[in-house]
Amino acid sequence: MKMLSRTRNSAVRCLLLYHQQTASSKIYKRWKSNVVGFIGLGNMGIPMAKNLLKNGYQLIGYDISANRMEIFRQESHGSVQTGNTLQEVVANTEAVFTMLPECTHVLSAYSVLLESSKKNQVFIDCSTISPDTSKKVAEMVESKGCKFLGAPVSGGVVGAVNGTLTFMVGGDKDTLVAHQCLFNAMGSRTIYCGNHGSGLIAKICNNMILGMSTVAVAEAMNLGIKLGLDPKLFASVINTSSGRCWASEVNNPVPGALENNCPSNNEYKNGFKADLLLKDMNLGKTLANNSHVPIPLTDKTVEMYNALSSKGLGDKDFSVVYKYLKDL
Ligand code: NAD
Repeated sequence: MKMLSRTRNSAVRCLLLYHQQTASSKIYKRWKSNVVGFIGLGNMGIPMAKNLLKNGYQLIGYDISANRMEIFRQESHGSVQTGNTLQEVVANTEAVFTMLPECTHVLSAYSVLLESSKKNQVFIDCSTISPDTSKKVAEMVESKGCKFLGAPVSGGVVGAVNGTLTFMVGGDKDTLVAHQCLFNAMGSRTIYCGNHGSGLIAKICNNMILGMSTVAVAEAMNLGIKLGLDPKLFASVINTSSGRCWASEVNNPVPGALENNCPSNNEYKNGFKADLLLKDMNLGKTLANNSHVPIPLTDKTVEMYNALSSKGLGDKDFSVVYKYLKDL
């Protein structure tokens, strides 16, 4: 029932968009009839791709890991196709999403997948990478006569599952408008940030806050609990006081502090890997160093995540910083 009403809502949104766009531009495409490619079926990619499926799109998925492809096929109950190569996905789709870990993965994937691109095909990269890498990928894509949007996301795995991600988009605005229905299937907000790379500046600066606020909640809760406070009671105090933030209210780093299925309640599994947060904080450091802007708290947070990663915790959700501090 829920799925049906989501599909109907998306269809209504698409219809509204159609009316807006036929009035303002002729570039509208009926995406419902087109096949979408999804490359990178990790913690974020699988739930995002599943939301495209739920909203009525046909999908071809691909991941370099056979295991992730198998998980995707199982979770989609056979209603999805998977490709054998990047080129195969691109050759058989109209719009292609990429959701890959780091700059190197995105560059190497695009240098291969563009071999089978078609003129005017649209590529949307949702990975968090450096703005400069995103601009380079945009050039590669546009040199093939195709279109590119850099559209990193916020909202975590929970937002990906619930279809409530925020997209921060850089690139050509008309291309975004023409493909808004695809974004609506996976998120609740799409914010146009400006030229290529601008969405990534917003995303990276946001994640600097995410890392720092998570360390702040972990540090304060570790002290309060060591001084005798009950984790659940203390979390409820913070969440009705001035310390309240996403890290305390949604992704609390202390096991048992919240009654939701955040990673700390699941041995820090299936969330946003600490090594990926470290990657984002380092991207922030590079942007700040290049523009001579001081970021003392980010520097300290990076030190902490480097230490945590060298203890073998880099694959856990980044809220594992609480466990790291507790065990020091
Ligand atoms: P992940 O490591 O779980 O998934 C990445 C997937 O990409 C893996 O399954 C990997 O096998 C696959 N991959 C790597 N190279 C590939 C290639 N050449 N071709 C095809 N597949 C390839 O990472 P994730 O958590 O899904 O994050 C993906 C991106 O989204 C990262 O840039 C991350 O920073 C960003 N992000 C993550 C979250 C989160 O909460 N997990 C939130 C917002 C943004």
